[in-house]
Amino acid sequence: MSATARGATAKKTVSELNLILLGPPGAGKGTQAERLQDDFHLPYIATGDILRSAVREGTQLGRQAKEYMDKGELMPDEVIVGVVLERIASDEARDGFLLDGFPRTAEQGRALDSALVDVGRRLTAALLIDVPDDEVVRRLSGRRVSVKSGRVYHVEFDPPKHEGRCDVDGSRLVQREDDKPETVRHRLEVYHRMTEPLIKHYEDKGILRRFDGARSATEVHDHIRATIATLRLEDEL
Ligand code: ADP
Ligand code: ADP
Repeated sequence: MSATARGATAKKTVSELNLILLGPPGAGKGTQAERLQDDFHLPYIATGDILRSAVREGTQLGRQAKEYMDKGELMPDEVIVGVVLERIASDEARDGFLLDGFPRTAEQGRALDSALVDVGRRLTAALLIDVPDDEVVRRLSGRRVSVKSGRVYHVEFDPPKHEGRCDVDGSRLVQREDDKPETVRHRLEVYHRMTEPLIKHYEDKGILRRFDGARSATEVHDHIRATIATLRLEDEL
């Protein structure tokens, strides 16, 4: 079946949830995505995770990505757009997806819009988790990730049961190279310059939903879950 026909069929039989998570680095997008996957069983497409695993595997994509990631710069649009569109067109994402870390530029936003239009789909919502810059710095300086599963912890706000070890698989917890303070400041600057304009783009389309990311992870989760449940109901009516 062609991608177009598949998109059209999916549209008739189920209400799709095509969601993107927006927000500065450290806003809590990954933390929320982990919870939302359990609630809504959506395939989770996180470009940062995809790129980090390509770096670990030493693929061509990984070798290219490492240079940009270590400096806190963005990968070229055409490379990352190709990676994401392939995932969205896959069978797994037929009934919806949860995108995290993409789009990050106006160009990526346009590429996503037009790829979805081409197959008769559309975004359900852009979920913006907003936190001030000083909170980003606090969060990223204390972020630790499991080397095996990538599960995220925070030394102060969400510590593991045993220091330095993942609760789920016991593997080592490390600090991401790009979570060092100098790189964090640069990533924030890149976010404000390159990604923030997308907020207006989704506002103009009427699909932006804002969440106060300075609240606890549980409060943010309750709020997002309720919003998605309402969106789905509205879509089914
Ligand atoms: P992002 O995916 O947006 O970069 P993460 O989900 O990795 O952000 O969260 C960044 C850090 O902040 C992690 O260490 C995480 O444990 C912590 N964190 C996430 N949400 C909250 C919250 N609401 N309050 C306090 N700390 C949080
Ligand atoms: P964060 O947890 O801070 O939100 P990510 O894990 O999403 O960060 O991304 C880490 C890095 O991967 C970025 O700083 C950038 O170098 C690269 N990257 C991820 N997504 C994209 C994208 N959509 N476009 C360009 N570069 C990207």
